Amino acid sequence: LFVVFEGGEGAGKSTQLAQLAERLRGHGRDVVVTREPGATAVGSRIRSMVLDTTGAEAPSPRAEALLYAADRAHHVATVVRPALVRGAVVISDRYVDSSLAYQGAGRTLPVDEVSWLSSWATGGLKPDLVVLLDVDPRTGLSRVAARNQAADRLEAESVSFHERVRYAFLDLAAADPKRYLVLDGSRPAEEIAEQVAHRVEELLGA
Ligand code: C5P
Repeated sequence: LFVVFEGGEGAGKSTQLAQLAERLRGHGRDVVVTREPGATAVGSRIRSMVLDTTGAEAPSPRAEALLYAADRAHHVATVVRPALVRGAVVISDRYVDSSLAYQGAGRTLPVDEVSWLSSWATGGLKPDLVVLLDVDPRTGLSRVAARNQAADRLEAESVSFHERVRYAFLDLAAADPKRYLVLDGSRPAEEIAEQVAHRVEELLGA
């Protein structure tokens, strides 16, 4: 089973991902927790190129899209597919929808082209479930600022950038409701965790 968490900045993905993994492991499941960008050695170099750009040259939008695609291609080939083949539950922090939302809607690259690039990179591997944690960008960004993580880089983008990202995620979910679980990321973490666990256990037939 391949589960992906998506959402804007400060939506609470990492908290939820960790709780789901712990719960499934508690039930004796083989669980692989992973993320994009940067889950592999190759990926962490790519992550620095796209994200640690203070004092360095930031990649142009098409270059950025290709770097995320390269990270994803390597991630799927070396981490995600092998784990799925052995029967593990794979939980990824971000996947293709992040590219459609950030590089497509955010950077205004043609979404169908980003989509094509992503399916080429992944060989067409789709998640069984996408958990979308939806929060107003202002709420999310203030959570990130409070943690003092990457706040400068994120604030360099306009609120309208983060709003385009948010609505792109919601549109993707609306277009394929069976594959998505859309939750309000401003709700208490325990409540969200219960809803996620319920849906995942349903899919696992547990
Ligand atoms: O999820 P995490 O906070 O690790 O994501 C790191 C950053 O990478 C996010 O702030 C997001 O802006 C960016 N990102 C992106 N395009 C992607 C994936 C992530 O711009 N496809």
